Order: sequence, then C-alpha cells, then structure tokens
Amino acid sequence: MDTQDWYDVKEFAPGTYQFTEAERWNMFLFIGGERALLLDGGIGVGSARRLAESITDLPIDHVLTHTHWDHVGAIHEWESVGVHPNGKDKLANDYSAGCRDFVETWKGRPFPEGFDPETFTIPPGKFGRAVQEGDVIDLGGRTLRVWDTPGHSPCSISLFDDKERVLITGDLVKPGMPLFIQVPTAVLSDYGPSMRKLEKIAKENDARWVCSGHTDPCGDISIIGRMAAFVEEVEAGAHEPPKKREAGKWGVVDEYEATGFSVWIKDHARK
Ligand SMILES: [Zn+2]
Repeated sequence: MDTQDWYDVKEFAPGTYQFTEAERWNMFLFIGGERALLLDGGIGVGSARRLAESITDLPIDHVLTHTHWDHVGAIHEWESVGVHPNGKDKLANDYSAGCRDFVETWKGRPFPEGFDPETFTIPPGKFGRAVQEGDVIDLGGRTLRVWDTPGHSPCSISLFDDKERVLITGDLVKPGMPLFIQVPTAVLSDYGPSMRKLEKIAKENDARWVCSGHTDPCGDISIIGRMAAFVEEVEAGAHEPPKKREAGKWGVVDEYEATGFSVWIKDHARK
C-alpha cells in the first residue's frame, strides 16, 4: 500500500477505507464490484490517487462532500470531479491561503518525499458531474445514496453506503469535535434540518458507522440526534450567553459546550 509515509489508512469495514492526511483530514475509499469511489481528497500534500490506486485496480471516481480547501487536495489528480451544483464554481478557487497556513504551522511527521512546502498550492479541478440529493452512485453490487445537507457549506452533501451501512456526513456531524459553524460558508439555520435529515436516514437504514472529514468512524448513531437537538437549542437562544474563545485563524468565536462536543459560531452564520 502506497502510503507515502504520510497517510494513515484504516479499513474499518470490508472494502471501506478511511485515509487520514496529516492526522486531521479524512477521505474515504469505497470499493464496489466494478468501480471504486474516493470521497474527498485531503489537502494534497501526498497523492491520494496513488494511494487509492495501490489498493484497487478498479476505475476510481472522485466526488467531494464539499469544496473547502482541506477536502479538494486531489481534484487535480482526476480528469474530472463530481460535486454538488453549488460547488461547481469553487473547483477553480485559489486555495493558497489554506496551504500557506498549513505549511507554516505543521509540526508533525516529515512531508512526503518530493513535496516542496515553498511552492505548495492546490491546482484547480475540472467539473465532471453534479452530485446531489436523489442520486445513486452505483459501484457494481454496491450503491451509495446522496442527500443535500447544507449548513457547513451550501454545497455539502452526505452519502449512505447501503452495503456496509456507512453514513458519510462531510463536516456537518463531527462526533467528538467542535461543529464548525464559524467558517465563512456556514449557515446556522440550515444545520438543524440537515442534521434531522441525517438522523432519520441513520435510523431508517440502521447505520453502523457515522464518518466525517475530521473524526474517526463513530458507531453511536444517536450522536446525530443529540447534536441536532443542541444546535436547535443554540439557534433558539437557549444557551445564551456563549463563551468567547480564541480560535486561531478564525479569531474569536462563540463557543457552546454540550456533553461530548461543542459548537463554534461566528455572527455571520446566524443571519
Ligand atoms: Zn469543511
């Protein structure tokens, strides 16, 4: 397996892999009977495509849960990429600010061979197809269904793998980590409905794993409903006043603490 001494790889269900880049950014490889799917691509310091192709010989499609810089690092490695229509124009964004910030603050394992921190940026990708609610991605004997789940970003989608009952939530539900409602694209009022949608999908389909862009697979699906309820309370003003917290590049954010997780918000997301 070609980890480039950079990616951590976990096969948490048969034919279902979580790759983690730089200990904080996840992507997921689903292997079907005829095709494979790589969901998200990390930040692209390593080559996610090389890693994926070292695991399967099947053709691999690349789809994004949303277009934040820390998920699009592999878009240039594919001929074209699947993304929600709201993210179509973002594939050509300039992501160099995030890249610079990462290189300047990274203190972990050495960069992979051949990586140049001086020139690191994320090249643009090409839009291939819209991926949105109602779509079914057929990998041959394995299907993933798609739902629109805005909140963290207007282009956020979630996917459910019918074979291993894995729910991928992008950055919407992050068990054990703060919910990032402070990012520029976040809309607080979209969180509750999207999370309730995921709660229903997880229950109806007896989901086994809830997976996100930044946390390890979580086997406790009740976390979705608990997070939804808390976010709804925050939106209704039930937890005022929030704590103020210094949150690095995001400046001072409002922090609401629940049991086992917290919520970070900036005012723009409340409108
Ligand atoms: Zn994000």
